[in-house]
Amino acid sequence: MPLKRDVPVIDTQILPLFGRRPRLSLEFFPPKTEAAGADLLQSAELIATHLRPDFVSITYGAGGSTSKLTYAYTQLLRERFGWVVMPHLTCVGHTQEELLAIAESYYRVGVRNIMALRGDAPKGSTYSPTPGGCAYASDLVGLLKKHYPEICLGVAGYPEKHPEAADILSDIKNLRHKLEAGGSFVTTQLFFEEQTYVRYVAQCRAAGIGAYILPGLLPPLSLGQLERFAGFCGASIPAPLRERMQGMPEAEQWRAGVDWTVGQIEELLKAGAPGVHLYILNKHTSLLALVEQLRARGLFVAQKD
Ligand code: FAD
Repeated sequence: MPLKRDVPVIDTQILPLFGRRPRLSLEFFPPKTEAAGADLLQSAELIATHLRPDFVSITYGAGGSTSKLTYAYTQLLRERFGWVVMPHLTCVGHTQEELLAIAESYYRVGVRNIMALRGDAPKGSTYSPTPGGCAYASDLVGLLKKHYPEICLGVAGYPEKHPEAADILSDIKNLRHKLEAGGSFVTTQLFFEEQTYVRYVAQCRAAGIGAYILPGLLPPLSLGQLERFAGFCGASIPAPLRERMQGMPEAEQWRAGVDWTVGQIEELLKAGAPGVHLYILNKHTSLLALVEQLRARGLFVAQKD
């Protein structure tokens, strides 16, 4: 059972952490069944035993489908592991009053970081803003910043452009608006080649964006999963990664996924990334191998800032 604290702990803001050493963040999603909840906790225990994540984030089911679960797991991971937790919040399906009520519930218990997103329309329909809500993530950022200036706001960036954007430069212009509205740092959509990140950062800098851009990486578990995820987000799959996975039985493909991700992490840190954000999807299948490789390289085991 999580420990109950009488006094809320005020979380560290994430933004000031960047720049001193590479930061590690991990993304969970709120599990909807008991078995899935046990999976998440098993992964979290493993991580807590071997690594020191600087923060973790928990996704939000667009339309509020996981609102209570996102809150509950935010609190559970803060209390049980002492982690800084950044819950995600999406505009879709919420009025501004509802969005502010959710932010207030987090603020009251000491959460000081929120990932502010637009979210997507339900499958098969096109996005349209909720009446009385926020049309774009930049509107949510502006709303939260006005009412909760102490909350540090993460925003999303798309190195291979957002699927709805006409082109990368207009998407980057919209990213700049999000940051000007009060976004504190950027976490990227998943991608599989270091050059994709390097090019994106250069395009952002040329567009006047100075914010830290934290690369988001998916350690792929199988070729099927890789194709599915890359398909949703419009990420390209490098031929060598595909070939390596194709050459292995499906149950072993995660090994190639771990090697690829560790290689990506090393290259990205060399290229000056402020850290990495891992989309671990609550899975512990490949986590131990990933953790061992990171530890062997002395990455993300620091005890001090
Ligand atoms: P926005 O920044 O609003 O951008 C959406 C689109 O609108 C882009 O094409 C942009 O170029 C365009 N746009 C922005 N502003 C304007 C404007 N003023 N005028 C015209 N066009 C504009 N989804 C979830 O449901 N739950 C999650 O927890 C979640 N977590 C995520 C975490 C990360 C790191 C990332 C990268 C994505 C996440 N998503 C999540 C997915 C995200 O909700 C979708 O990608 C969504 O389609 C866009 O969200 P956004 O916040 O980037 O939107």
